[in-house]
Amino acid sequence: MSKWVVCYKGKGNLYKDNIKERLETNFDIDSVGLVEGEDGDNFIVWLIGVDSIYAVPKADTRLVDVTKSGDKYDFKICNVCHCLKPIAQFDKNQNNLHGSVRRPSCRRCRTTIDKRAPKTKQAKEMEKKKPKNGEPFVCPICRKRSIVGITAKIVADHDHHTGNIRDFICDSCNTGLGRFKNGENYLLNALNYIRERDTLK
Ligand SMILES: [Zn+2]
Ligand SMILES: [Zn+2]
Repeated sequence: MSKWVVCYKGKGNLYKDNIKERLETNFDIDSVGLVEGEDGDNFIVWLIGVDSIYAVPKADTRLVDVTKSGDKYDFKICNVCHCLKPIAQFDKNQNNLHGSVRRPSCRRCRTTIDKRAPKTKQAKEMEKKKPKNGEPFVCPICRKRSIVGITAKIVADHDHHTGNIRDFICDSCNTGLGRFKNGENYLLNALNYIRERDTLK
């Protein structure tokens, strides 16, 4: 199995093209990384959260069994920063307040995500333009025809980077975009993936 460590001091030297940078750099305390090799007293670690390779003193790391982290354990790895954090740093899922399901991102990462929520003033203006219940609607993405609020739910789609509202789309397409993190890169990756593996070719 892959060897993962927690870098609990959050310090190391960037490692580029097998050359260790002279100056130490700080990164997030308790960052989880994959051990890719050794260099004297250091582990060569790929910090998955920041996608960078560091030489980290072995003494500043400890092995972690990633299969023993998560909602059922005392510690969980955030799916954004990939730091191992106490379970209390992850909010309980709103639909599951009494359950044990917690959000996949830590509270600190969530604040960054929530900052990209739609801008309120613009949201109000858009609310006026929103197709009314009972009106016909054609989704600009899937082109499906529906009766607003009756045969489909229509939502305002916003750019998660700027918070700007783009347009109204059907709930189904909105979920679809959300699955691709509203990122063009992911959508293009998906498109390329499908084209590359075209089974008719
Ligand atoms: Zn995080
Ligand atoms: Zn749609």
